[in-house]
Formats: sequence, structure tokens, C-alpha cells
Amino acid sequence: MDNLTGRHALITGGNRGIGAAIAGALAAAGATVSIVGRDEASLKAQVDLGRARAWRVADVTDQGSFAAAAQALAQTSGPIDILVNNAGGAFSAPFAKTSADDFRRMMDLNFMGVVHGVQAVLPGMVARRSGRIVNIASTAALKGYAYVSAYVAAKHAVLGLTRSLALETARSGVTVNCVCPGFTDTDLIADSVELIIQKTGRVATEVRAELARANPQGRLIQPDEVAAAVTWLCGPGAGSVTGVALPVAGGEI
Ligand code: NDP
Repeated sequence: MDNLTGRHALITGGNRGIGAAIAGALAAAGATVSIVGRDEASLKAQVDLGRARAWRVADVTDQGSFAAAAQALAQTSGPIDILVNNAGGAFSAPFAKTSADDFRRMMDLNFMGVVHGVQAVLPGMVARRSGRIVNIASTAALKGYAYVSAYVAAKHAVLGLTRSLALETARSGVTVNCVCPGFTDTDLIADSVELIIQKTGRVATEVRAELARANPQGRLIQPDEVAAAVTWLCGPGAGSVTGVALPVAGGEI
């Protein structure tokens, strides 16, 4: 599949997990892939694996750092045609133990990180009358989950932003969509499993099995499955698809 040949794709958090899978899938579809994240070694490793051509260290919560990285990558590989806002992270605690700072931290990472990404690339996309923005939200953008209220609220905000942007850009050649994975087999889930083990003393296999049961297919989603949905949304065949939240969740939604 090479329908993204000539397209420059920027993926935040492209150094591991779902982001690394998306980098690999877009590169396999012909795109020139750039990645940003905070860890130099794992960013370089993706280039060595052929999943990305260029990388920059940037923190998505820092608008200046992200904008400078996006500009440098555009100078290296051309204007950014595809932005995948993937960087994110979860925080688990009962609401009563979630401080205002915890809420701000989740909003900064999962929501403001997306805002910074869009602000860096959208003006150029609109000027060129062409672009794809895919925000990796979550099933947590579409329903509630207990003990992760700050994360769920931030992901709902991402979906609200996506829907509004899709309308504002509808006549500009740009599409803006969310992909909403269910529990996906990455470090994020490994960290959550570890936390549950620490808090409850349960064993890992039991905790993973419980997360898998949230998915009617009875399994964790694989990063490549999320990447396939993103690749489709970035392709020429999805030009009329904008403002949607596409669950990749085995029927959970
Ligand atoms: P991982 O923990 O495996 O990866 C998170 C990625 O985000 C890393 O590349 C990390 O880079 C990057 N990142 C985190 N904070 C920042 C920051 N401040 N600036 C730049 N990059 C940052 O998680 P997943 O791959 O599972 O998650 C990817 C996305 O998918 C997230 O938005 C997550 O919310 C979403 N998602 C995940 C699900 C799951 O079950 N795994 C389910 C639904 C949605 P670094 O190495 O610098 O930390």
C-alpha cells in the first residue's frame, strides 16, 4: 500500500506504543514520517527500524518546544500534511483523591498537547487546502470509567475539539477525526496493571484478564489495529470523513 507517497506525517509520541505502530503503518503506506517525544534514544530507535525518517525531542505540553520541533521537521521533510496527536498518558485514582493539579496535568498532556499540535500545523494545511489531523482519543472520550475521571474528562475534551474543528475546516480540504481505542496492549496498560497490583495485591494475569473483559471480543487491542484505522483516515479514500470518533474497541462502544 503506497497511497500516502509524498505526504509528510508528524506523529507525537511516535517513539513507542500506539505511536510507534502508527509511524510504521504510515511509513509502510509511503509517507515520510517524523516523530516527536521526550526520549531521544527511543526516538532514534524508530528511525533505525525504518518507521521514521526524522525526529525531534519535544514535550507536547510546552507549546514553544513543540512548535519549534514541528517547524524544524517541516524544514527537513517539507510541509506537514498529516498530524497524528497521539502523545498522552493516564492517571488513575478515585475522584476524592484526584487533586486540582492532577486534573490540570491530565488536561495539559491529553488536551492542551492536542491544541498545541493543531495550532502548529493547521494554518499551513488550510493555506495549502489539504491536510489530515487524527487525534488519538480513547473509548474514554465516549463513555465514563471509574477511577480515571481526570483522564476521561481530558479525552472527552479532545473529542469536543475535534468535532468543532471539523466544522470550522469543512471547506478547507482538511479533515479532523478521532480514533478511540479500547484497552490496548502498551506500556500505558502495563503501568495501570502494575498500579492495580500494588493497590490490591492481585496477580497480573487476573488484572489483564479483567481489562480484556471490557472488550466484547475478550482481548486487548493491538497497537497495529489502531494504526490501521489511522492510516485509512489519512488516505485519499477518507476525504469525506471528518468530525468522527472511530472506536477500535471490539464492540465495547
Ligand atoms: P504509551 O505509554 O505506550 O506511550 C505514550 C506516548 O506518549 C509515548 O511515546 C510518550 O513519549 C508520549 N508522551 C507522553 N507524554 C508526553 C509529552 N509530555 N510530550 C511528548 N510525548 C509524550 O501509551 P500508548 O501508546 O498506549 O498511548 C498512546 C495514546 O493512545 C495516548 O494518547 C493514550 O491516551 C491513547 N490510548 C491508549 C490506550 C491504551 O489502552 N493503551 C487506550 C485508548 C487510548 P515519552 O517516551 O516521551 O514518554
